[in-house]
Amino acid sequence: MSPDQSAHDFDFATRAIRAGQAFDPTTGAVIPPLYLTTTFVQDGIGGFRSGYEYTRGGNPTRTSLETQLASLEGADRGFSFASGLAAEDTLLRAILTPGDHVLMGNDVYGGTHRLVTWVHVPWGVGLSTVEMGELDAVRAAIRPETRVVWLETPSNPLMKITDIAAVAEIAHAAGAVVVVDNTFASPYLQQPLALGADVVVHSTTKYLGGHSDVLGGAVLLNSGIEVRGEDLADRVAFLQFGVGPVSGPLDAWLTTRGIKTLHVRMDRHSANAQALAEALVGHPKLARVYYPGLPEHPGHELAARQMRSFGGMLSIELHDEASARGFAESTQLFQLAESLGGIESLVCYPSEMTHASVRGTALEVSPAVVRLSVGLEGADDLIADVLDTLARV
Ligand SMILES: *Cc1c(COP(=O)(O)O)cnc(C)c1O
Repeated sequence: MSPDQSAHDFDFATRAIRAGQAFDPTTGAVIPPLYLTTTFVQDGIGGFRSGYEYTRGGNPTRTSLETQLASLEGADRGFSFASGLAAEDTLLRAILTPGDHVLMGNDVYGGTHRLVTWVHVPWGVGLSTVEMGELDAVRAAIRPETRVVWLETPSNPLMKITDIAAVAEIAHAAGAVVVVDNTFASPYLQQPLALGADVVVHSTTKYLGGHSDVLGGAVLLNSGIEVRGEDLADRVAFLQFGVGPVSGPLDAWLTTRGIKTLHVRMDRHSANAQALAEALVGHPKLARVYYPGLPEHPGHELAARQMRSFGGMLSIELHDEASARGFAESTQLFQLAESLGGIESLVCYPSEMTHASVRGTALEVSPAVVRLSVGLEGADDLIADVLDTLARV
């Protein structure tokens, strides 16, 4: 077995640390080198060493990340991009032509909805949204021209849970490609391809990178998905090279380094979020706590089947907008910032931050909701921060 073994039968933790990470054969360096180079010397015209020609088309550091990510999602092809949205845009271009229709959950990441609304719809693509958890509604919303069914679970910011296998069955009967944005769960907590999805996308900026220091995105899928007679993975590969929204070598290297501890971090994110959610249930200043790890969460049983644990994201609903704003602006440990999934805890006010672009649409978020990305600080400190802040709003 080679030391960079990415075979799917190794444990997740082994693959996170070893897949695509063979030591450098020339020096023995345990960590594969960071190939900060744009181009590769040819041994005679067209004589490429290991197939590398120019970094937009391929770079060993990017290959290392793509191999690692594909292994973790159980995919045979992996593509890494400059950002999550670059990954999503590339995938959608690879599938869609004018006249096609995209069906999305009504609670997808605001930027995903904005991308399709302002970039793909003007090119002649149709878009509609649906409550993905309601399977009859999904069936009814699929049209003959529906090519893509796009979902996120747990969703942002209300942590709604969608049955991936059930939606995949409905979508496949209609000939659509099922895409799961697995950013919130990460491959450690949820494996959409094994549940029947066709493609997984990630903003690796969040849990995969894990340290709030590098932007990135990924598309993971298996060969053999046909789109207009071509293999979808080949189309994504072509656009990655032909359009160029690639991750740079340094970004890829940092992302790979983050991923090596994904499993350890996710266990603790879930444990901290679970402890916080339990400490907040029934609090008089709160109308609701949205966390799938709580037995009263409507998606709890489904999430327990579909996920390894419930993740690090939770949202709270206060009684009015003023208290929600006051809360978001006065926590001490939870820092007010966009983004999520880093080791440090963040608080976000979705209606004016992450979801500002969907105000006035079906994706609008209540102004009384605050989202928490629960980090890896001490759980007792995080709970105290939230309780102290609630006492003051
Ligand atoms: C952040 C995010 C994106 C977009 O990713 P970028 O890396 O910011 O481009 C997509 N989906 C989800 C669920 C996200 O949280």
